[in-house]
Order: sequence, then structure tokens, then C-alpha cells
Amino acid sequence: MGGGEKKKLTRAFGMPVGDDQNSETAGDRGPVLMQDVHLLEKLGHFDRERIPERVVHAKGAGAGGYFEATADVTKYTKAKFLSEVGKRTEVFARFSTVGGEKGSADSERDPRGFAVKLYTEEGNYDLVGNNTPVFFIRDPLKFPDFIHTQKRNPATNLKDPNMFWDFLSLTPESIHQVTILFSDRGIPATYRHMNGYSSHTYKWYNDKGEYYWVQYHFKTDQGIRNLTREEAEEMRGRDPDHATRDLHDAIARGEFPSWTLEVQIMTPEQADEYRFDILDITKVWPHADFPPTKIGKLVLNRNPVNYFAEVEQAAFSPSSFVPGIGPSPDKMLQARLFSYHDTHIHRLGPNYHLIPVNAPKNAPEHSYQRDGFMRTDADGGGGPNYWPNSFGGPEPDASAAEPRFEVRGDAGRHAYSHPNDDFVQPGNLYRDIMNDRDRDHLVGNIVSHLAGAEKNIQLRQTALFFKAEPDYGLRVANGLGLGGKEVERLAKMSQEERVEATKYSREVR
Ligand code: NDP
Repeated sequence: MGGGEKKKLTRAFGMPVGDDQNSETAGDRGPVLMQDVHLLEKLGHFDRERIPERVVHAKGAGAGGYFEATADVTKYTKAKFLSEVGKRTEVFARFSTVGGEKGSADSERDPRGFAVKLYTEEGNYDLVGNNTPVFFIRDPLKFPDFIHTQKRNPATNLKDPNMFWDFLSLTPESIHQVTILFSDRGIPATYRHMNGYSSHTYKWYNDKGEYYWVQYHFKTDQGIRNLTREEAEEMRGRDPDHATRDLHDAIARGEFPSWTLEVQIMTPEQADEYRFDILDITKVWPHADFPPTKIGKLVLNRNPVNYFAEVEQAAFSPSSFVPGIGPSPDKMLQARLFSYHDTHIHRLGPNYHLIPVNAPKNAPEHSYQRDGFMRTDADGGGGPNYWPNSFGGPEPDASAAEPRFEVRGDAGRHAYSHPNDDFVQPGNLYRDIMNDRDRDHLVGNIVSHLAGAEKNIQLRQTALFFKAEPDYGLRVANGLGLGGKEVERLAKMSQEERVEATKYSREVR
């Protein structure tokens, strides 16, 4: 800290300060005088130091760096940052936990946010993902309720296993994400040792107007490393900020973390014919059907100069697209297009795009938006503030417009039509991807948490594990000490209910 040229202390407007240790008082015992404007200014600013905490992803760490394109994908997208092999684009990335407050521990069991802002010459492109390829829910109407259950009980202000599991057990589509969250991948050892996924499907389109569906996977070059439940408990006491520290210290040492960006690509025809809805964020696209292709490298090589300026005020939004990339109809994504920008306006103000970390460094803003809190520049000067105009104001460029695509259907509130397929992928993960150690840890992690919920909630949640895979359900039931009759009933019930899912699973594998 500090160093450099010795400067004279001033007030906010530059006036020199003569004494910064003694308030101005009438006599040496006080009272303090109203005319001590330096004191008033200092207290008044201190009272306003905090900005609203993010409602989710409050605790985070960030760093700058670059993205380098490593493959030719111009057949699929006209995005300029992907237009040439070897092309580099400056980035800022932020990693976070989701449910905890700004001072919460980095080693909580929680998904990790994985957000990357690319300062492209066509404006900023934000990729706002998680370290998990799927999510708990597929309909945004459930999101505020879901988050309430992962945070604190409104009466006790304590984390509440009843709220947590009540909601999840009543939301069967969460079972895939629950299985990942309670596996060892639910507590990454550091931010450097985890993958990042778009989770959503996005649209890429080329300069002929042809479009494709894509999913992004940032695969860590440091290798996956996780903390066990016991290691995480110990870490929470020893160093609650361990992942923040690790990212900072690694970069300071010159060990720059990197991730290889892979994409899965699908044509609209493949999507229409596929056996499940590829836009459903509770599912992955199986690698065997849609092999991931390496297209780039993300490298973080710069620590922030100031945490508040760059990390606390960094604002990522899935609505920040560049020509060549757009949203898919994924319902969760559609809601995030609104909600992220909206929450930044609340937290940082309507001109948050002027904050240097958020400003489009390589594509200056030329819009007709004007004024608002903290608009501090000439703001278009005396130029026209409306469009169309005959005074040479900035013009829309038709080549930047997204190609049309057809949508059909009745307006209405549509329930999901294939509920049984919610259990296929978590079953595959449990049986085929996890090894014995992974399964032991998964069951132990679930049992230690679910044990805090009421018995009827334990039973309802355990029924979902049975549906994914009987062995999974049985081991959780045994771990919870659920009675023999109840477990028998669950096993029987889930066998019947599994018929559809199993049939489906066989057909598709
Ligand atoms: P694959 O065998 O082709 O892919 C398995 C994927 O699982 C790999 O990407 C691997 O990631 C990841 N993985 C390995 N161990 C774990 C673990 N303990 N917890 C979570 N993920 C793990 O199979 P499929 O593509 O058919 O997918 C099978 C299942 O794997 C899915 O149901 C899903 O749960 C999980 N998965 C699939 C992904 C996908 O995009 N298809 C992505 C991530 C998970 P890594 O290479 O980093 O080790």
C-alpha cells in the first residue's frame, strides 16, 4: 500500500486540510462546532460508502486478462472477437458464490458464478455463467422463491434446512443440479480449479444469416480440484477468504490461471429432432451427440488496482451481446436478459455503463440516452438527443440486426411436458460418471445437510433420489436412518415411477 510521491491532504473539492486528528470544538472538552466542515464532509461520505449488496453473487473476486481465439468459427458466427485465429480481446472476469453475503466464506457449498466481460470492438460481450452446466429450475417465475430458500429464514436470520429442502423436494427438476452441488464439485478448491459453463443455450449466426445453437464450456487448465466437506469446514475457520486470496496471490506470483473455451454446436434442425428440449437448462447436451470443440483460451494476468472500483462495481449482464451472438428462447435466459441489467440500475445507477470496468473500452457509446445520476461527461454535447434527426446523429446499422427466426405456439402458462426425463441425467451422472469415492462423498454430503430437515421433507427428497437411481435413494435413506417400511414404500413407488424414465433412458442411450 501507499508509496510514490508525498501528496498534501485535501478535502473532496481540493482545499488543503490543516489538521486531520482534532475536531474543531469550543474549548478542549467540546462540543464540536458545526463549522468543522471537514469533519461533516468526512462523516457524510463515510455514511454513504456502501452500495447495495448484490442480492445474489455478493461475495466475489475478479481479475483482468485476455481471451484469445484459437479456432476458425466464422462459419457459425460473425462475432469479430472470434473472426481470426490468434486474435486477442481484453477481458475482466469475476468469480463468486451465490447465496452468501459479501462477508461470507469462499468455501461454502454453493454454485460458483463465472462471469467474463469481453471488451470487443463491437461493444462489450458478457458471458455470465456458473461452474455447473445445469441449473435448479427451468422457469424464471420460480427464481425469487428458490433464492429465498437458499438464504436466511426471515424470522431467525439463520440458514434453514427445512426451507432449503422443502423447496427442492417440491421442485423435482432440481435433482440434476442438486446431485452436482452435493458432489465434491459443489465446493471447488479455488476459483482457478473449476470449470465455467454458459449453462444456457445461446444463438450464433453468421454473415449469411444462418443460425446455430451453442453452449460454452470454459475448462480449467489448472485441473479440477475440490474440497471435501471436512476440508471446507476447516477452511471456513482458518481462512474464509481463501479463494479470493488464492486468485490474487497466484496472479501476483505470475502464475496466470487459464481456461480452454470449448463449444458444443447444434443446427436448428438437430435441435427440433432431438429427444429432449435442448433449451432446458436442467439438462446438458451429451458429449457423445454434440462433441465439444476447442475455440479459445481465457487467461487472467492482472489483479485489480482497487477492489471497489473493479470487482464490487463490475456489472455483467447476459443481455450484452455483439453481432453474431444472441439469446435462445431458454425461459431462464429470457428472464436474465431483463433482471441483470435491472439489478445493476438499482445497485449502481442508470449510468453504470460509464464506470470504467463496465465501459465499452473498444467501442465508444453513441446513443440517444441522456442524463441521469452520475452522467459526468459532455453526454453528446449539443448534438441531437433524438432519432431520426437531420443533424448527423449516430445512425442504426442494418448489418448489426439479428436475423429473424420463427416462433410459434399458443400464448399461455405451459407446464413442462416430460417430467420423467428430469431423472435420466442425474441417474447417468451417479451411475456412469461418478466413481465409488464420488458416490460416497455425495451421499455423505447430502445426509449431513438433509438430516437437519423435518422427516416428511427428508422422505419427499429421498423419493427423488430413488427416481434418479434406486441405489442413490437407498443409500441416502440408510444414511438418514429412515425406517424400513418407509424405505420399502419409497423403493416400490420409485420402481413404478421409474418405468417411464428407465424406458426413456434405454431408448436414448
Ligand atoms: P461424458 O462422459 O461425455 O461427460 C462427462 C462430463 O462430466 C465431463 O465433462 C466431466 O467434466 C464431467 N464430470 C466428471 N466428473 C464429474 C462429477 N463428479 N460431477 C459432475 N461432472 C463431472 O458424458 P455426457 O456428456 O453424456 O454427460 C453425462 C453426465 O455428465 C451428465 O448427465 C452431467 O451430469 C455430467 N456433465 C456433462 C456435461 C456435458 O456438457 N455433457 C458437462 C459436465 C458434466 P471434466 O471433463 O471437467 O472432468
